[in-house]
Formats: sequence, C-alpha cells, structure tokens
Amino acid sequence: MDAARSRAGALAVRDGRIAWIGFDDVDGAWIGPRTRVVDLGGRFVLPGFQDSHVHPVTSGVELLGCDLNDSRSAEEVRARVARCAAARPDDEWIVGGGWDLPLFPAGNPHRSVLDELAGGRAVYLSSADGHSAWVSSRALELAGISASTPDPPAGRIERDADGAPSGTLRETAMVPAQRAVPPPSPERLAAGLREAVRIAHGFGITGVVEADGNEPLLAAYAALDRAGELDLHVTAAVRALPEGGLAQVGELERLRAGDWGPHVRATAVKIFADGVLEAQTGALLAPYVGRGGDRGELMWSEERLRELAVELDRRGFQLHVHAIGDRAIRAAFDAVEAVAAANGPRDRRATLAHIQLFAPEDIPRFRHLGAAASFQPLWAYEDSYIRELTVPFLGPERSRWLYPMGSVARTGAVLAGGSDWSVSSMNPLPGIEVAITRRDPRAEPGPPWIPEETVDLRTILAAYTIGSAWASFRERETGSLEPGKLADLVVLDRDLFAIPPTEISDVKVLVTLFAGDVVYRDPGLPDGVLAFGGPEDPILSKESNDG
Ligand SMILES: [Zn+2]
Repeated sequence: MDAARSRAGALAVRDGRIAWIGFDDVDGAWIGPRTRVVDLGGRFVLPGFQDSHVHPVTSGVELLGCDLNDSRSAEEVRARVARCAAARPDDEWIVGGGWDLPLFPAGNPHRSVLDELAGGRAVYLSSADGHSAWVSSRALELAGISASTPDPPAGRIERDADGAPSGTLRETAMVPAQRAVPPPSPERLAAGLREAVRIAHGFGITGVVEADGNEPLLAAYAALDRAGELDLHVTAAVRALPEGGLAQVGELERLRAGDWGPHVRATAVKIFADGVLEAQTGALLAPYVGRGGDRGELMWSEERLRELAVELDRRGFQLHVHAIGDRAIRAAFDAVEAVAAANGPRDRRATLAHIQLFAPEDIPRFRHLGAAASFQPLWAYEDSYIRELTVPFLGPERSRWLYPMGSVARTGAVLAGGSDWSVSSMNPLPGIEVAITRRDPRAEPGPPWIPEETVDLRTILAAYTIGSAWASFRERETGSLEPGKLADLVVLDRDLFAIPPTEISDVKVLVTLFAGDVVYRDPGLPDGVLAFGGPEDPILSKESNDG
C-alpha cells in the first residue's frame, strides 16, 4: 500500500516500527542474535485495517445490553427481547438495539409488543442503523411523548390511526426517549469499549475514527488507554448539535485540548447533515416517490451548516459529515467549498461519510475539494433495505447513483473504508468483497448490482488502509508497509489476489500486530506457527528488541 502499491516478500520490525522491506528474499544483515524470524508459509500480510467511521463504545455497550443484531425475523427479535426482559426482572428499563427495519411492516414495530414482553416496563431499542427507536408505552410516558406531542423538526413520531404514538420514533423524535434512559456508567462505557477493541483486533483493525464522540465516550477511551489496553489509533469526531449552533465551538475546543490518552485525539467534529433513506429521513433534492412531496429534511439549513463549518475550520477542526441523500451531500460539499473560500488554502481532508445517493454532477467534488469519501461498502448490494425501503422511494433513475464507489474512485478521489458498526459488521473483509462484487457476500456468484460502480481489489484495499489513514491524518505513521512506519500488521490466511473475490468474506485473520505487539492471535493456530512472540517473550516489542 505504498504509492506504487508494491508487493513484498519480507519485512523486518524493530522497536515497534518497520525497519526494512525486502522484495525478494530475507537479507541476513537484518537478522541479529535476538531476532525472531517468522516464516508466514505463503500467508498474506497487509497494513492493519483502519475503519474510517465506527461507533466502538456505544456498539460495545449495545452488545452488553439487549443485543438484537443479526436477528433473521420479527419472531427472533421478539424472542430475544423476551429473554432480555426475563434476565433483568428488577430493571426499570430494558435497553438495547440492533433490530432491522425490514423485519417489520414499513419498518414500524409497535409498542404493544414491548408492553407485553416487558410486563409494562420501559423499553428502548435502537434500530440497527441508529436512526429509529422502538419504545414501549411506559418509555413514551417517561419521555413525555403523547398523542398531543407534535413531530419535532427533522424527526417523526410514527402514529396509530387515532394519532397516538405507535412506538417507533425517527431521528430527532428519539431524543426525549434517549434522555429518559438512565445513562450508562463510566464503567459500563469502558467495558463496552474493551469488548469493541477485542472485536476490532480480531478483524485486523488497528485504527478507527470514533464517529460520534462526546465527553463520556472520550473518558472511556482515556481510561482504557491509560491502563495500556487500547492498542488502537483513535481519531474522535466529537458531535456538534444543531441546537448548539456556533456557541458550542468553545466546548469542542475544550474537549480537543483534553488528554484522552496517547493513542486518542479529538481533532474532528461530527455533523449530521440528514437522516437515512430507509426511513425516508435522508434529505433529497427531489421528493421521495409516493410520499406526497416529502423530500426529507436537512438537520442544519445550508446556511447554518456553512456558518458552522467555516468557524470550525477557522479553529483548525477537521469536518466529519454524515451525508446520505443527494441534497445533504450537496450541502456538505457546498459547506466545504465555502470554508476554502472563507479561510484560504489548507490541508483539511473533510470527510463525508455514508454518501449513499448522489446527484452525478457532485461526484467530482471530493477530488476538487480534497475531501475523503468514507464509504461503508457492505451496504452496496441489493438487500432488503435497498430493495424494499430505498429503491421504491427513489425510482430507478436516481437509484443508479446509490453508492457510486467506482465513479468516485475514477475521479482520483481518496476512498476510505468504514463499517459504521454496529449498523453493520466491523469486519472489513465482507465489505472488501462487496465493493468488488456488489452482491450479498453469502450469495452465489452472479451479476453485480449497478456494475459501473464496482471497484478493483487494489482500490478497496487502499481504502481500508492508506485511504483511511489519510482521512485521519495518520498516513505518515500508518496505512502502508514502508520503513519508518509503525508495525501495524494483519496476517490473513490467504492471498487476496489469488482467490476469487467471492471468497474474500471467508478469509480469516490469523494475527494482528499493533506497533509490533501481537494484539490478536487466532485461537485455532497451533503452537509454534506464526509465533511472533507475546508479552512474556517480547521479541518484537518496543521495549526490548535490540536486533
Ligand atoms: Zn455512524
């Protein structure tokens, strides 16, 4: 993943960094009396993967709570909620998430189900995409949401025919219910993060962008990092709230100045430009099909977004914008363009994340504005979200421009890979496969969905490594295997270039190294195979390696 996208046959690590790259054979001059030589036996090494948009802490906490991710049916969701409720007979609140909208008619599950399963207690369950919440009647009561509550700006309370809230809340309508839920303790946030780091290492991930930071989350990172348990480069994008306006910039600066640990920096700001297409809350240039002129809403007006972006940029922040609909993407580009006009040239690398539906004329703007395109490639196939909840509401003409990774790559823009976990799996390998195949990774080989928008293996590997490193200003230290860079490595069981793309999602991570230390080792590996040394035998570690 150097600029030439070279392939090499050997590398040497010293003091946690890559000391040498050998293209053909091992150079004996690099082997000293205490050097451990590890023969990979034809296995495959890449720079550690980097996730350019992920929610480690909240997703880890979600796993510890009522975890509904990957439920295959509404019955399975109900059974899992029933188990959670039974396991916590004394809790006033049942909290969790991960349910998929397509499992329920119109993505709209009813409160009566939760009332029954939880015996009338308060229940709050966020959807897998995080943009809807399913709540019980008691939760609505505690949140003060009733038939007479109007829909808030940029939010929707789903309702029964009589106007009573039916139990599904969208976007900003979730906020009163979120506020009613008792916040997780610092210990629980740290426990969630610990779980997330463990999962990340198992997937070969050594760097992340925390895509929705706030002070309690930063404190969790700091606690783990100080305990020496983080082993992950973290760039936090701290969330700016629409109601906070320009007044919150001082607070964002205070958080940026905080000491959150040696691996953590809070140098970016997260802005939600809009919602999501599957709930028809993404902001479109033209109306959704069959929704009476509704075209979704921007969370910030174009003018307010521009104003905030200019001020944040003036103070040196990086922008990280959630932009899904074509109108939100345009508003984000316009804001970045206004920033450059107002504040002059600077290496800013604004990140636009999710970037689902484009007006085609906006596609070259990443390249023109020096912005990073953070795609979540695992979303780019015709699943039920696309087939049932997206394409019918966009029509065929616009749907051609869903996740145009190929077109964006052809402009020469930098692509960054990301998962948005727990929205979808943190595992980069299925995402890499889908970027190439644009098919369900579990399906048989066949024609891609929107074939013009597939990318090749080199392009998508770069997105998950050097591209994501660039998007978080860490490309001088990480993202490629070059002398001087940190030895953040992932060992895979197969050469990705030697197998059909449809097998990539089955490839296994065998070992993950962070700055030369083994942070994950496949428990199935026999002793002595890929023996990089461990904490008790720190051949590669920063402290003791002398050759
Ligand atoms: Zn996200």
